[in-house]
Amino acid sequence: MPTRTVVIIGGGIAGLATAVRLIQLGLKPIVLEKRPFLGGRAYSFTDSDSGEEIDNGQHVFVGACDELQKYIADIGASDQIRLDERIGFPVLKGQKIGWLKARRLPGLLSNLSALLGYRHVSLGGKLRILWALLLIKLARLDSGPIPSHDQISFDDWLRGHSQNNETIRNFWNLIILPSLNDDITAVSAYTGIQLFKIALLGSAQNPAMGIPLAGLSTLIGENARRFIELHGGEIRTGVDVDSLHIAGGGIKGVSTVGDELIEGEAVVSAVPAQAMTKLIISDSDGPNDFFTPAESVKTAPIVAIHIWYDRPVLSEKFVAVLDSPLQWVFNDTDLKPHNNQSSESGQHIVISLSGAWQWQDRSKQELRDIFTVEMEKAFPTAESAVIKKFTIVKMLEATFRVAPGSQRIRLSQRSPLPGFYLAGDWTDTGWPSTMESAVRSGNLAAKYVVADIGTGSLHPVGLATSEGRSDSRGS
Ligand SMILES: Cc1cc2nc3c(=O)[nH]c(=O)nc-3n(C[C@H](O)[C@H](O)[C@H](O)COP(=O)(O)OP(=O)(O)OC[C@H]3O[C@@H](n4cnc5c(N)ncnc54)[C@H](O)[C@@H]3O)c2cc1C
Repeated sequence: MPTRTVVIIGGGIAGLATAVRLIQLGLKPIVLEKRPFLGGRAYSFTDSDSGEEIDNGQHVFVGACDELQKYIADIGASDQIRLDERIGFPVLKGQKIGWLKARRLPGLLSNLSALLGYRHVSLGGKLRILWALLLIKLARLDSGPIPSHDQISFDDWLRGHSQNNETIRNFWNLIILPSLNDDITAVSAYTGIQLFKIALLGSAQNPAMGIPLAGLSTLIGENARRFIELHGGEIRTGVDVDSLHIAGGGIKGVSTVGDELIEGEAVVSAVPAQAMTKLIISDSDGPNDFFTPAESVKTAPIVAIHIWYDRPVLSEKFVAVLDSPLQWVFNDTDLKPHNNQSSESGQHIVISLSGAWQWQDRSKQELRDIFTVEMEKAFPTAESAVIKKFTIVKMLEATFRVAPGSQRIRLSQRSPLPGFYLAGDWTDTGWPSTMESAVRSGNLAAKYVVADIGTGSLHPVGLATSEGRSDSRGS
């Protein structure tokens, strides 16, 4: 039986991944989540009209997200995601479809072959892109306190390395905008280079698209709840943590807004950066300099537009759209058939708008007027289709921004306050604001906790590598 308890503040992916890993290492986690449900920024809710489970925003991942996939396997949910074998998606420009589709070739060649048949970039443009990819492959990203590639935007870096409007609009930003939730002119070259190094310049499956097949609350929240509770951990929702409880120079637990003291031998904050700084400043006279950079973490919005048509308007599972405000359009009916039974012969479409400052303050009617017309321009069948229902979901603080200079504000999971650890996608994981980053942060935080306080357990739960389940005998 675990003899040591760790309090985790936040029931998003980072907090849940911390809990799962702590259990695997032989500790007992208590997850405290202020909202009534788990999942944090990755949740779903039941739409009252259709009865369908709608995600707060379309979430995708790529093959390179190995710790996310391992976590999903550990909580027994591998059958609720789907991963393509290699990169392959259609890109619509005007009425022309071009495919970024890799061929069956060994390793890196497979990814590079995706450019060959891509008709939205000229031959000259393709040569430019290959040249920049070579430079990215050779680029050394220094990890000092002020990494040089973190001082300029990725757009500036690319333009300084033979890229032009054609390659930036039709290739580089096509990938950067949805991946980093920001325009290429606003993200640091450091993160842009790293993204392409990991995804396109890695193995054939690294850039392949992965999609949840279930609603996010089921996939992320309920599967984790089952695993954690089954293995002796606790989850308490509706508990708003106010501050750290510090005594004798170390952390002894947390105090809630309702004045309850919840004790643990270590505390992991798995909340967004701004929420974490409030926990610290209110009570601690500890080493605040370490935490101060987190106050500079900025966020970016995502707006999702859901349209239910009375007939299919999109034949693919998803499509990227150039020269249009549509950005990316997902065919939810095909992607989550079990969840869309009420669609019958119709189709549920999700338009995912990244870096959506332009749209975040628009009314539902304004968005409906604009985007139904844009859909008709891009997909002519939509002209004769009847819209049965229209919904928007705005997430104003969807992701943290990776602007130039942002590397220094990503903090280590091990804080200088004894017994206090950080998790959360925004901490220093090397990944942008993603589910993968959240899981990595949780794994790192759990590793540091165990290194510092030990497990005290005779039989840690095995770190499973096989599909689905860990060995639970030791818990
Ligand atoms: C619309 C949208 C689309 C996205 N698309 C993608 C995508 O396609 N691919 C991808 O990989 N990522 C995507 N992301 C990002 C991804 O969802 C996040 O990176 C990830 O969920 C962050 O998890 P986290 O646990 O670090 O933080 P959070 O999810 O923010 O979790 C923090 C939790 O802490 C709780 N909390 C805060 N303060 C307290 C307190 N005082 N006491 C108790 N609890 C507290 C919060 O309620 C929350 O549940 C998207 C995000 C959004 C919003």
